[in-house]
Amino acid sequence: MIYLNGKFMPIEEACIPVLDRGFIFGDGVYEVIPVYSRKPFRLAEHLDRLQHSLDGIRLKNPFGNDEWSHLLEQIITKNDGEDQYIYLHITRGVAKRDHAFPQVPPTIFIMSNPLLPPPAELLRSGASAITAIDNRWIRCDVKAISLLPNVLLRQMAVDVQAIETILIRDGFLTEGAASNIFVFKNKMLLAPPKSHLMLPGITYDVILELATANQIAHEVREISEAEIRTANEILLTSSTKEIMPITKLDGETVGTGKPGDMFTQLHTLYQQYKATHMRGNASH
Ligand code: PMP
Repeated sequence: MIYLNGKFMPIEEACIPVLDRGFIFGDGVYEVIPVYSRKPFRLAEHLDRLQHSLDGIRLKNPFGNDEWSHLLEQIITKNDGEDQYIYLHITRGVAKRDHAFPQVPPTIFIMSNPLLPPPAELLRSGASAITAIDNRWIRCDVKAISLLPNVLLRQMAVDVQAIETILIRDGFLTEGAASNIFVFKNKMLLAPPKSHLMLPGITYDVILELATANQIAHEVREISEAEIRTANEILLTSSTKEIMPITKLDGETVGTGKPGDMFTQLHTLYQQYKATHMRGNASH
């Protein structure tokens, strides 16, 4: 069951007009929210980021946070699975094709799908990634539905059986095509600083909070391409993939070629944090 413009319905019955600005211009924003034990994870943070994205495209938030929360509760109840991921999408609505903003109601679409844990084999052995020049626009902090560069960049990885494309802009790491990237080098966990050049990942924040709370030495600073290529470990994070070890980069072995101790420690801490959330007493 999905939600579209005020109604719940089976996805097969959901239709939008061809003049929707999401279809015509990619004029909209979205969020992906993981749900564990039927509870949205870090909901306040996802709704804050949604507001930031809406502000970034000058579109009014159609709902307050309580209304969003209530809608999401209903979507979760109407769908199968204890663990789900919610996809929430808002476009500037349906209007005669013209770049200028129309005065029409937005299109609001929400769906939920089962959320499966990352494959155990990937966590045991690690995954391959490739690098590419980050050729996206310079508002990557906005979670815009116009994802053509991300689609093309991600496909480059799929074409060579890698799981992600790690992006480099002007010699420095930004993020993955659909994830954030951390580097572990010389006993230091490194994270690129948030800016208009990357999406402020909710999982990225959780990892930095866990690092602080557990006295893991870390630095938020620019990471050069050379540092990525000589890393002891590379870690990928996202709401649906959680935290994953990258053990091959552009065909070269990363560190020992096996998931390292930093991955193991952060993965364990992340699972513990999720368990706290599921018991209902996480701080978020
Ligand atoms: N960067 C990009 C470009 C993404 O698409 C995603 C996944 N939504 C992320 C980072 C990770 O963000 P989050 O941890 O909030 O899923």
